[in-house]
Amino acid sequence: MEEADILITGCTILPMSSKMTIQDGVIAVKDNKIVFVGKRSSAGNIHAEKKIDARGKVALPGLVNCHTHVAMTLFRGIAEDKPLNVWLRRHIWPLEAKLKKEDAYAGALLGCLEMLKNGITCFADMYFCEDMVAKAVSESGLRAVLAEGIIEAGNKTKGEQMLSKSIEFAKKFYGNTNGRIYVMLAPHAAYSCSPELLQKIRENASKLEIGVHIHLAESAEMFKELEANYGCSEVEFLDKIGFFEGHTLAAHCINLSDMDRRILAGRGVNVVYVPVSNMKLGLGIARIKELIELGVNVAMGTDSPASNNVLDMFETMKFGTLLQKLAYMNPEVLPAYETLKMATVNGAKALGLERSIGTLETGKKADVILVDFSKPNLKPLHDVYANIIYACHGGDVDTVVVDGKILMEQRQLNTLNERAVIEKAERHAANLLPRKP
Ligand SMILES: [Zn+2]
Repeated sequence: MEEADILITGCTILPMSSKMTIQDGVIAVKDNKIVFVGKRSSAGNIHAEKKIDARGKVALPGLVNCHTHVAMTLFRGIAEDKPLNVWLRRHIWPLEAKLKKEDAYAGALLGCLEMLKNGITCFADMYFCEDMVAKAVSESGLRAVLAEGIIEAGNKTKGEQMLSKSIEFAKKFYGNTNGRIYVMLAPHAAYSCSPELLQKIRENASKLEIGVHIHLAESAEMFKELEANYGCSEVEFLDKIGFFEGHTLAAHCINLSDMDRRILAGRGVNVVYVPVSNMKLGLGIARIKELIELGVNVAMGTDSPASNNVLDMFETMKFGTLLQKLAYMNPEVLPAYETLKMATVNGAKALGLERSIGTLETGKKADVILVDFSKPNLKPLHDVYANIIYACHGGDVDTVVVDGKILMEQRQLNTLNERAVIEKAERHAANLLPRKP
């Protein structure tokens, strides 16, 4: 008899290693790894202390949110219906100037709570006070790729200081929290960091053997400004200075020329499609079909609740595919299975974690979610992928396992105290607004 720690039985499994589904499936978890995935009839006799009867549920890999600023959860609903430039300069940056470590921690905890309840098991984050995000990740039990943000905005000394801080963070947190925290370096954008600083960031990332997370081609206005300054597009400019020579996670990628797309494909840049935030800020539509046809790995992200306003990848997946169908006036673009791949397999690859997470396979880390398919919005069941993408929302997630630990079971949380997290966030949000800079 084989021994496991957790045995999940009776569910439909979407392993996401192929389109095949497993009916009456079994998932066995030992320590932090998946030791069996398959049909009950071929599972043999596996013994486990903890058994989860998952009949009527669908198991899939935990969702991967490849772009957010989780501490900004505190800013939800604070600056609505504004253009990016005004939103950033008049609302968000002044608020950030007042933000203290404890505020960032309260926001990050709230964001982690929300993601956990919505079945997001891994996320990529860039912001300030990232050690506070690491603390929230550690306490919530989630997995994350964190980066202390770097923004120069014409101030060289500030840029240098932020780079040092960012390197220090990366060294300190690399492999932290039982290997659940991974790190990157994160320059805010090509328009807010000088070429010299961007090159230094890439050099340091290469030395540390880590990736770089950046906002890319998000705004047409900034795009024009950069073009006027450097005589070429944002992507061409970054390519020229060698910025793409190494693992790159590029969020948005809306304003791209054919040449830009070919550069991204040639350099193996991982694109994060952020449909809800792009729509909300009225920035444009990323041409995902062309990127996929060129072989670019495209993942998905929510962005922060200041521009989304929820951390729900089910909603992001639905908006994401609908927007593409509309953009190309073609309902066949980005089918349900391909969309789910973007939030699982492609997300894992975009973070350089494809060997550990993104699919339900033996030997992978046990990041598993169970979706409750007894809900009225998920009946009847004709096409499981269609129900996941077009009919499901975060609240349908019943159970969440990360790194072999059950973080939520039947919507009951094991790591975070929901009420305490919410009260703390409300207190900090109320204090932050009237505070003098
Ligand atoms: Zn962002």
